[in-house]
Amino acid sequence: MTIGYESEHHQFRDSVRSFVRERIVPHHEQWENDSCLDPALFTEAGKRGLLGFSVPEAYGGPGVEDFRYNAIVVDEVNRAGAAAAGIAFSLQNDVVLPYLTDMTTPDQKARWLPGTVTGETILGIAMTEPGTGSDLTGIRTTAVRDGDHYVVNGSKTFISNGQNGTLFVVAVRTSADKHKGLSLLIVESDTPGFSRGRNLEKIGLHAQDTSELTFTDMRVPVANLLGEEGQGFYQLVHNLPQERLSLSVGAVSAAEGVLVQTLEYVKERSAFGQPIAGFQNTRFVLAELATELDLARTYLDDCIRQHVRGELTPARAARLKWWTTELQVRVADRCLQLHGGYGYMREYAVARAFVDARIQTIYGGTTEIMKTIVAKDLGI
Ligand SMILES: Cc1cc2nc3c(=O)[nH]c(=O)nc-3n(C[C@H](O)[C@H](O)[C@H](O)COP(=O)(O)OP(=O)(O)OC[C@H]3O[C@@H](n4cnc5c(N)ncnc54)[C@H](O)[C@@H]3O)c2cc1C
Repeated sequence: MTIGYESEHHQFRDSVRSFVRERIVPHHEQWENDSCLDPALFTEAGKRGLLGFSVPEAYGGPGVEDFRYNAIVVDEVNRAGAAAAGIAFSLQNDVVLPYLTDMTTPDQKARWLPGTVTGETILGIAMTEPGTGSDLTGIRTTAVRDGDHYVVNGSKTFISNGQNGTLFVVAVRTSADKHKGLSLLIVESDTPGFSRGRNLEKIGLHAQDTSELTFTDMRVPVANLLGEEGQGFYQLVHNLPQERLSLSVGAVSAAEGVLVQTLEYVKERSAFGQPIAGFQNTRFVLAELATELDLARTYLDDCIRQHVRGELTPARAARLKWWTTELQVRVADRCLQLHGGYGYMREYAVARAFVDARIQTIYGGTTEIMKTIVAKDLGI
């Protein structure tokens, strides 16, 4: 309520909630076994209006620039917890789409935006390489100009939607300059020279495909350059706060979901002749986590409000990201403990929530990198 949701937002939330219940939860186990979502989920989500809110009407979208809708989707998917983990709508809506809506020419918009709304186009972003992750200036994939094309060589790793993705924002090196040598190219997955590596085996988020990508003499038209050559580093830095905000929405929602499930469990399970909920330790642990989650939700809502006004700074997004994702990991860990041995069994949602949470303090910028951003903002 504190973010100022209106009746349209509530209706939208109901619609997302029923989509998660009807179209995601019943199929999720199968996708986890396949280590990959069925890409048809994206077209179904597109039909239900869950993708591409910010895409202007002229390009097939509703043209709604209101991050609260994005937050509702992330909120509802994550609240379902392990039963809907790894559903990459946030990657599509919050992480990659802003590059295509905000940094493209009208021709590029016409080529790429309509498919992102219908879900026929599945988006990904490829920054990380085997040799560099936190340090974007270490990117070595090269793009050498040859007439009206770039010839791209190199490889990326840990790329979400790496198997299903059809359109990728790819960070490449167009000159040796540390920062001004980076550029962003939009790459269609059917470009000759583009190849997907294996679907990487992760400890959690099994429904999400995460892959290596390799580019061998891949010819990408100069018409696929995003903005100007040499602007890549600054474009990435510009868009990362929204990515971090979105990860924080997921962190708080998922942790709230785990707390609710654990409250149920401790009331049902007994030891020494009384429910686990009766032990002072259980009561204190859950009271502490509920308090921290209350703080987190209040803090998050404030950041969402700031972002809707266009005022969320990179440093505040960094504070929020490290603190909420570390909290999510802590909540999952302490709630697992309260489940005893059952907490270690995959059939219990808390076990999956524990491993699914662990990546949150790493991708989108690690906790340590977030703290370096905050420290820099403090002038040290
Ligand atoms: C499941 C998954 C999905 C991902 N999806 C994507 C994606 O879609 N696209 C994409 O481009 N990438 C993606 N990534 C990559 C992710 O963003 C990187 O793994 C992350 O940024 C960390 O980079 P790294 O793994 O190279 O770790 P490193 O940079 O090698 O870091 C190793 C350790 O050193 C620490 N460290 C590094 N620099 C500093 C410093 N200056 N001060 C203090 N400590 C430091 C780090 O915090 C970390 O603890 C994904 C990763 C995973 C696991």
